[in-house]
Formats: sequence, structure tokens, C-alpha cells
Amino acid sequence: MATSLLSPTGLRCSTHRDAPTTLRCDECGRPFCRECLTTRWITSRSSIWLCRACARGASGPSAWGASLGRSSGAGAWLARYWWLLGAIAVMAWLATAH
Ligand SMILES: [Zn+2]
Ligand SMILES: [Zn+2]
Repeated sequence: MATSLLSPTGLRCSTHRDAPTTLRCDECGRPFCRECLTTRWITSRSSIWLCRACARGASGPSAWGASLGRSSGAGAWLARYWWLLGAIAVMAWLATAH
């Protein structure tokens, strides 16, 4: 592990072909320069480097919803109309409460 961090020059940014770098995207493993990488904090103490493509596709509310929609139709429907189910449940409760 330590040797990869200290690897000598020879890596070049995948976007800027003439920019030497020692950094890599922690998601796809491709070398990128400092400008092309963003820091993503995974805990309060440790962070990872992400390239722009991976940062876009990384975990987040939108990515979570997108993967949910792709994985199952019922899940996507539920993600979109959960509030409607809640409203129906509340109305049913009101109708039976009296
Ligand atoms: Zn990447
Ligand atoms: Zn770059």
C-alpha cells in the first residue's frame, strides 16, 4: 500500500495528458491530477479521492434513487409515490377514526 503512494513519476492525469501526478481516483483507479480530483469524506477522519465522473455517480440521494429505479420497477414507483401512500393511509385512518 505504502509503495503505491510513493510511486515515482510516470503517472499522468487521464484528462490532462501532460500533467504528471501521483494521485489516483479511489473509485476507478485511474490517475488524475489534483485539479481533476475532489475529496469525498467517508468518515470525519478519513477521505477518498474521486474523479469528476465517479463523484457524479457516487453515493448520494440522486444516485440512490437512480439505482433504485434501475434495479426494480416497484422500488422506483415506491420512491416516487411514497408520499401518496402516506396520504392514503392518513385518509383511511381519518375515515375509520370517526
Ligand atoms: Zn474515478
Ligand atoms: Zn487533470
